[in-house]
Amino acid sequence: MYPRFKSRKKSRKSAEYTTSAFRFKDGRLTLAKMVDPLDIVWSRPLPEGASPSTATVPQDTAGRWYVSLLVEDPTIQPLPATDAVVGVDVGLDHLLTLSTGQKVSNPRHERRGHARLVKAQRQLARKTRGDGANRTKARRKVARAHAHIADRRRDHLHKLTTRLVRENQTIVIEDLAVRNMVKNGKLARAISDAAWADFRSMPEYKAQWYGREVIAVDRWFPSSRLCSACGTLGDKMPLNVREWTCDCGRTHDRDVNAAKNILAAGLAVSVCGAGARPQRSAPSGQSAMKQKPLRREP
Ligand SMILES: [Zn+2]
Repeated sequence: MYPRFKSRKKSRKSAEYTTSAFRFKDGRLTLAKMVDPLDIVWSRPLPEGASPSTATVPQDTAGRWYVSLLVEDPTIQPLPATDAVVGVDVGLDHLLTLSTGQKVSNPRHERRGHARLVKAQRQLARKTRGDGANRTKARRKVARAHAHIADRRRDHLHKLTTRLVRENQTIVIEDLAVRNMVKNGKLARAISDAAWADFRSMPEYKAQWYGREVIAVDRWFPSSRLCSACGTLGDKMPLNVREWTCDCGRTHDRDVNAAKNILAAGLAVSVCGAGARPQRSAPSGQSAMKQKPLRREP
């Protein structure tokens, strides 16, 4: 027996069970009114001795069932403090670029996933209202292809963010509120935005586990063309320019330079006091900047 939902087509399908409504024993989960334990493919092992307080059973748009368990993990302890800090730029070209110069690409095989998605979307587009069940089937296929890509990215991001949080005391990222992704194919953008939302939340709760700090800065400044070495604002450059040289003689990788500027902005906030946000007016020395605030430079 599976949970029943209010609507078959609309609203996110999900059922929540509190401690009295499920039994968790020897790694087997049995929900209320069920005789046998669920047949679960575990995404990760539960921590030793953990007893879940809530079980949520959602079904995604691809029709797959999930179980998510809320547990207190007694094994997670704050890590010893470190001096390392890092700024992170999120992009389309590379998933993440770090202020250290390291670039992290998208998960492997993502191209293949995209090809499958495009094909499924084409098939769906050919279906008309009259196709009924076939159209539903085609829609499912698109959703499944989407979910597959998203899952892989999420796994990838989990590994990355855990590493970032473990290795650094302070992680500076840009705030979603002012994010305005570069113009790109709708598909790449949707997927990238979804990954971005994950990337935004993951480091924050992991930082709490490990005693680290995450600072989100409003990216109102033209971080790509602001020289991270001398603070001079370079000329506007098209997206295909990946490298540029400042008048001061420093040559910058566009994304690494952006990550460095994000880090600097975050550390400035950190000095101003926890919870403070960077000013949205131009900092002194850059008053000649003719950028509209809240605008994201590609
Ligand atoms: Zn410079």
